[in-house]
Amino acid sequence: MSFRLKTILGIGLIGSLLLFSLIITMLDYIEEAQNRELLERANTTINLFTSAAREPFLASDLAKLESSIQDILTNPNIVYVKLIDSDNSIVSMGGEQQALNRSFVEDKSLQQAMSDGILDISYNMEIDDFILGIVQIGISTKSVKDDFQLIKNYALSVVGIELLLIILLSFILGTWLTRQLITLKLAAENIEKGRLGYQVNIQGNDEIALTAKTFNSMSTQLLETENLQHKTMQQLKLAEEQSRLLLTSAGQGIFGTDNFQKISFANPEAAKLLGFDSSNEMINLDINSLFNDSSLLQNIKKSLGSGQRIHINDDTLQTTDKLSLNIEYTCSPIKIEKRIIGTVVTFNDISQRKQAEATIEKAHLSALDNAQTKADFMANISHELYTPLHGVIGLLQLIDKNKITDDYAEYITHAQNSAEHLSKLIDNILDFSKITSASMQLANIDFELQDLLSECITSNIQNASKKQLDLRLSFDSTTSWLKGDPQHLKKIINNLLDNAIKFTHQGSIILSVQAIEQTDQKIKYEFSVKDTGIGIPTDIQSKLFQTLQQVDTSTTRAYGGTGLGLATCKALVELMKGDIRVASEENQGSEFIFNATFDISSIQASLDDTDH
Ligand code: ADP
Repeated sequence: MSFRLKTILGIGLIGSLLLFSLIITMLDYIEEAQNRELLERANTTINLFTSAAREPFLASDLAKLESSIQDILTNPNIVYVKLIDSDNSIVSMGGEQQALNRSFVEDKSLQQAMSDGILDISYNMEIDDFILGIVQIGISTKSVKDDFQLIKNYALSVVGIELLLIILLSFILGTWLTRQLITLKLAAENIEKGRLGYQVNIQGNDEIALTAKTFNSMSTQLLETENLQHKTMQQLKLAEEQSRLLLTSAGQGIFGTDNFQKISFANPEAAKLLGFDSSNEMINLDINSLFNDSSLLQNIKKSLGSGQRIHINDDTLQTTDKLSLNIEYTCSPIKIEKRIIGTVVTFNDISQRKQAEATIEKAHLSALDNAQTKADFMANISHELYTPLHGVIGLLQLIDKNKITDDYAEYITHAQNSAEHLSKLIDNILDFSKITSASMQLANIDFELQDLLSECITSNIQNASKKQLDLRLSFDSTTSWLKGDPQHLKKIINNLLDNAIKFTHQGSIILSVQAIEQTDQKIKYEFSVKDTGIGIPTDIQSKLFQTLQQVDTSTTRAYGGTGLGLATCKALVELMKGDIRVASEENQGSEFIFNATFDISSIQASLDDTDH
């Protein structure tokens, strides 16, 4: 039953009950009033008749009594009148015979009177408390009954009309009261059908209007939530698609396990590497039976237990077809709000990598072998070259230039210069060959940097002076005693100074050295050789440190050289765990900068103590 119907019926029922109770009360009241009036009329009638009949009764004037009776009977409501003497004999009577024939029973209540349609009453005719006789009168109750019936009928028709009105009014009132609720019901049905955001037209400001307002905001919120959910779902779908693509296209094997040590997902590569036809075959497999007693299984369990990421670089795994697989793998725990819910294992077949590594290792060993052979060869050949060359140099020195002509003396000087240049060249080739063959070991001896730098300046000052170049040293450090390879450090600096002098025609060359980092045990120096020479084109600068590189052939023709110097410098600097770079501008000059780290010599510490 709808709420509207209930409301209508409720209002109708209440109205009807009120109406009925009103009508019934009213009818009761009317009936009572009529009865009271009937009784009053009956008493008045019998009193009057008794008074009028007393005298003729005492006089035994029957004719007058008769006449009095006939008078009273003219009242249509009087059914009969009887006059009885004290001996209970009828003195006179008149009225309807049937009523007179009945034996007289006085009505005690109106109900008794109503049952036979006659109100039977009696009244004693007395004088000074002496009863002369009894007057009995029957009064018809029909007119009262008819009037009451009329009133009743009238009341019933009023009730009927009222009922109709109640029904109509309750229908109107019920519909009016429930119209907002019906709108709300319709709106709720719309929401149920999925029309989220549906709005109710708000009327008035009562409780239902407030409910409608709340409904509207709830509906809007539902729509917003739905939109958000939709968007989230789309993003989720996208993310899912991306993960799926990632999984399927990944070149790595990837599978996941849950907390119950079952495979929860796997990609095609994982299935292929582990010998399955498809990744679906792997789902729900128990990793204990799949991976037996392998270290992979142990590490998955470890990762699940500890929540730690475990990476193994090289491992062997038994696949289902009983072939062993070389793999590199990582077990990463999957955590949701710090709770471990599984692991993801990513793994690679590293058989090819291992093969390649073996080949590289072999090539490396063979390269080392070759380098060693080359170094041995170079050492031999240098020795073979040095021996006659040193013989030539020695013999040339023995020649007394005073005993020969000036021309010959000049030839011999040329021969000596050439022999020394040749000796330097062999020295350079031998060094470079040693360095690049990795057979070179740097010395680690105490030396004083200040002295070493001064020596470098001294050995180059002559060449610089010849070209009228200003060669200077700038050294700014309180730590000077170091441990390292002074010979090779000197070689680097001399190479750079030699180049600077060679490629500078006027101006200055400055060797600056400064400490840039220092701890208790170690010190890092930056060395710079800056000239005001011809400079180097920008595009060439990066290639300078490669072996046998020169700016161009014209440079070689004009300045000579082998292109070995800077490559040797770079190799030596790297052996000293440093790096070298150049900053230069054509026709403005060049600056070669390198750094190297040295242990601080214990001599320095004792010197510092002495100073203190
Ligand atoms: P080389 O024995 O030819 O000097 P290097 O390796 O020492 O070999 O130098 C390679 C080339 O770098 C040189 O030929 C020269 O063109 C250029 N170069 C080196 N130092 C300087 C410099 N200070 N100024 C200009 N050019 C330089």
